[in-house]
Amino acid sequence: MRYFEVRSLHDGVEPQWSGEYRGEHRWHLSGVDCPRFGPWAWMDAFPSVDLSAVVEPVLAEPKGPMSVAEYNRLVTLVRPFVPPELPVRAGASFGPMIGTAQGKFGPMTCNPPWRVVLREDAVELLKAEGLKGVIAVRMELRSRRSTMPALYELEARPLARLHPDCIGEWKTPACDLCGKPESFSLPPKRWLLRSSIPEGLDIFGIDGANPRVVSERFVETVQRLGPSDVHYQEIDAR
Ligand SMILES: [Zn+2]
Repeated sequence: MRYFEVRSLHDGVEPQWSGEYRGEHRWHLSGVDCPRFGPWAWMDAFPSVDLSAVVEPVLAEPKGPMSVAEYNRLVTLVRPFVPPELPVRAGASFGPMIGTAQGKFGPMTCNPPWRVVLREDAVELLKAEGLKGVIAVRMELRSRRSTMPALYELEARPLARLHPDCIGEWKTPACDLCGKPESFSLPPKRWLLRSSIPEGLDIFGIDGANPRVVSERFVETVQRLGPSDVHYQEIDAR
């Protein structure tokens, strides 16, 4: 199986679609202000996670970096509603994207670069073709155009890992004061650790890194609906 990172168009490439949206997820955990290293936040987004049963207004109205104690309090509230295989980390967002949209959207959109949005017919085709791991959550976007097709955010669970050999020098150690895990800057030359790739999944994320990874089958299926304003970059697995 070949894998591809989904990326935004290169600078200077003219987009084919006019669609734009603005929005935010319904719930957020702010970043943590670490007494040793200062504020940090990860960018996990799990739109499928429903926190409506958690009675804590600060999740809907985050107030910026919080203390380690406050962070630990909120994680305890949120954890029972998040699937056990997913991390709960500072900076994470949950629930559907809420906002506005305008223009016309292609089958797949990747803008900002860490978010993949699918048009409704793309979601239906991926499901009809039996692709695995497609978690697409309907975005709650207001639009002046009544004919705008529904848009879905593609959840990319950070289940795979980059190969340790390509992370090497890009690594930052973990912190025992605030619980920040070991992290790294995205190495310009990178490849996946093959043994970490979830068996049979056609879409997944990389732990600690933004790019969303899709299978060759995923790319071929979405391309049947015509051009998208995205760029696919093959990523090796060793
Ligand atoms: Zn720390």
